[in-house]
This record gives sequence, structure tokens and C-alpha cells, in this order.
Amino acid sequence: MKITYYGTAAGEAWPGVFCACNLCREARRLGGKNIRTRSQALIDDDLLLDLPPDNYLHTLYYGLDFQKVKALFVTHSHSDHCYPADLELLREPYTHTYPGQMQVFGNDAVEKKILDACHGLGGEKERFLFHRIMPNETVNIGSYTVTALRATHAKEETCLFYRIEKFGKSVLYAHDTGALTEENLATLHCFSGPLQLVSLDCTQQSKRDGKYHMGLLDAAEQKEVLLREGLADYNTIFVVNHFSHNGGWLHEEITERAAAYDMITSYDGMEISF
Ligand SMILES: [Zn+2]
Ligand SMILES: [Zn+2]
Ligand SMILES: [Zn+2]
Repeated sequence: MKITYYGTAAGEAWPGVFCACNLCREARRLGGKNIRTRSQALIDDDLLLDLPPDNYLHTLYYGLDFQKVKALFVTHSHSDHCYPADLELLREPYTHTYPGQMQVFGNDAVEKKILDACHGLGGEKERFLFHRIMPNETVNIGSYTVTALRATHAKEETCLFYRIEKFGKSVLYAHDTGALTEENLATLHCFSGPLQLVSLDCTQQSKRDGKYHMGLLDAAEQKEVLLREGLADYNTIFVVNHFSHNGGWLHEEITERAAAYDMITSYDGMEISF
């Protein structure tokens, strides 16, 4: 199994679209892994997580190949995770080669945003099919078993994060959420075996949060919770991801600090096989 991180920033991107604070200026000057676009990740070659404004950029520069993507799971409707204008192009005459119907999963707010962007159902029936998914619901798609979990995030909608399993290996992709809840842990306990990879929110880096996002100390605590609960073990790979310029640490500094907790820091284009 493989996860590819295409976008690793919070909503404003880093450097921020409209920001020239010290951390954004420094990111522009240093470049490389300090340049972070907005949230998107791919499991193997065909299960995509989120559809940000930088979607097209990811196809141009990081090899995201939509000819292989069969299913898209959107976490919530915030624009760094759901910017659905591109889906309007998923039909003739804008593409002549997309092979079949993309299966799109998300909550009711995501459904409304996507259908508004695509001017109703006109193109939907041709090239994608929307499925509303609820917290604690599991769906099977191809070789994958995907479970939605309720995120501790925006109150205006039921934000989700996902557990993805394939051939007995599993990933927890938990971004735009605070600390894991009892409900989350109970859902995760419905499945056997430890998670192989856990990707945790680290938007606030140097600051504590736990109620909307997480900082590094929050993420480290959640790692301990998962180990204590037996949902992860000492072979589990832990990644911190989804970073904001408000968190205070450029790539090199967060990498060093996360390594102290035996966690990997994501960067745009990072690929991990496990
Ligand atoms: Zn976000
Ligand atoms: Zn900034
Ligand atoms: Zn959000």
C-alpha cells in the first residue's frame, strides 16, 4: 500500500496566497519542502482524498493521474479540501478519456457545494456519482473498505476523516480534526489489527489546540492514545501533516521536533510505501 501527499498546507497555503509575514517570506525564499499547497493525498493510484484548489497543480507537477482515480473521498466542504470547479470538466467535451464514472463520497455540505459548482446534475450522471456518507459508515469500493469518522472540527457541518483498508493493511487519515473522541476510538475498535500508517493533523504546530485542529503536542498525545488502545503498535508509521504559517515552524524545524516523537513530517510530493 502507498500514500502520496500532494498538498500539505492548511487553507491559506504556505506561503499564504495573500500573506507576506516572516514565515511566508522565508518559505518563498527557501522554496523546496517549505512550499506547501492545499490538502490532497492519494492511496495507491486510485483512491483520492480531497479536492483542493491546487488539484490541477498536483496533476502538472506531482504526477497525480486522474485516468487512474476511481474514487474520491472528501472530508468536508472547507475550500482547502473541497473546491469542486474542476469536476465540471469531468465530461465531454472537456475530457475524451476519463475511463468511466468517478465515485465521489462526502457529507451533505460537500454534496451541495459540488452540485452547485457543476450547475446541477447535468454532468453528474455522465461522469461521476455522488454518495452521501455518514459518520461511522463503512463502504466497500473495489478492493478498499473505507470508514468515515466524525471529526471534531467546524460545527456547521458533519466533518469527516477516514480509515482506509485494503488487503488487510490500513491507514487513518485524520486531518481537520482535534483529538480523537470516544466515538472515534469505538469505531476504530470495530476492525482488527493495528493501523499501518496514521496521518495526524498538525495545523497549529507550536500551539496546543485539540478542539478544531491539532498542534505537535496534541498529535503526540494522540499517538500515545492509539498505542495504548492497541489500535497502533511500534511498527505503525506516524505522520504529521496539514501545516499553517500560524504554527510557527518551517519545514526543517517541524521535521526535527516531530522526529523527537518518532513522527514523520509530510511535504508536498512525499510518498510512503508500507
Ligand atoms: Zn484544512
Ligand atoms: Zn504568512
Ligand atoms: Zn477545515
